[in-house]
Amino acid sequence: MLYTDDAYTPYEAEIVEFIKEHHDIFTIRLKFTDPELDSKYFFRPGQFNMIYLYGIGEVAISIVNDRNHQQGRFEHTIQVVGRITKGMMKLQTGDKVGIRGPFGTSWPMNEAKGKDVIIVTGGLGNAPLVAATEEVLKNRNQYGKLRVLHGIRSSDLLIYDDMYTRWNNSPETKVYMATSNADPVDNGKWTWGKGYVTNFIPELSVDYANSIVMTVGPEPMMIGVAKAFIAAGVKPENVYVSIERSMKCAIGHCGHCQLGSQFICKDGAVYPYPACEHLLEVKGL
Ligand SMILES: Cc1cc2nc3c(=O)[nH]c(=O)nc-3n(C[C@H](O)[C@H](O)[C@H](O)COP(=O)(O)OP(=O)(O)OC[C@H]3O[C@@H](n4cnc5c(N)ncnc54)[C@H](O)[C@@H]3O)c2cc1C
Repeated sequence: MLYTDDAYTPYEAEIVEFIKEHHDIFTIRLKFTDPELDSKYFFRPGQFNMIYLYGIGEVAISIVNDRNHQQGRFEHTIQVVGRITKGMMKLQTGDKVGIRGPFGTSWPMNEAKGKDVIIVTGGLGNAPLVAATEEVLKNRNQYGKLRVLHGIRSSDLLIYDDMYTRWNNSPETKVYMATSNADPVDNGKWTWGKGYVTNFIPELSVDYANSIVMTVGPEPMMIGVAKAFIAAGVKPENVYVSIERSMKCAIGHCGHCQLGSQFICKDGAVYPYPACEHLLEVKGL
């Protein structure tokens, strides 16, 4: 908590823009109504906020970088899955929500310096890795090659296409995308790949022994990605994943997100793969 010592109090933020990404996915751009909080608010790539829909409840949502890099503005991309996120879909520009955060660990941006960086996401797992990707691009000469791999079930589920086009700009910085299912809406317009993102491993032309992998997606996908890149030569300690569990307090008190000995909200959500491999392998944990 960098802007307040009070981790339990939600602070009011106003929606300055509501972007409909897909029929059940939307992005809200926010600013705090208190200008002092607005100027102090700071987060590290990979952290999350608790967003409170007044009178309904709170959900943990990753912080996406502001796509216009405006000081004091932050974004969340949200998929409707249940009661609270369904209510949030009805929000409009000018509406207010409560924000607690930022919480959790962050992507290893310092450890990644001097290495090739491989970002691998599936579905809405791209949201928690936008800020890390932008951080590499902002400090381009401190990192090696950047490879952004994104997998979706079908082409109509792609969000952030403007961003992927912007990122895919040189031999040093390349984007690889693939759809894994038969694509009813493609009509030949999908010019990216087909199949699983791990199929791209032979063509990334990176130094796997000096690469760092950051991945978010469904857990079976993250396990598959971790194993495939380790088999390709990435050191296990250089593979990082982000784990989602239902959260309430976000500061390691309530135990809702407990996974084995870990409180995902404060010990995670970002982990080096070897630190959580044994937990991810246990079905139903
Ligand atoms: C660190 C972290 C970051 C997250 N980032 C994002 C994000 O950027 N965008 C986004 O859309 N969602 C994100 N989530 C997931 C989000 O918190 C849940 O989707 C949300 O809490 C669901 O609330 P609800 O009331 O709408 O649904 P509920 O009614 O609570 O649940 C509906 C269904 O979703 C399942 N569910 C609820 N919470 C989770 C969860 N955390 N993980 C997996 N399944 C869950 C329930 O078991 C149920 O089947 C994140 C979760 C965590 C822990």
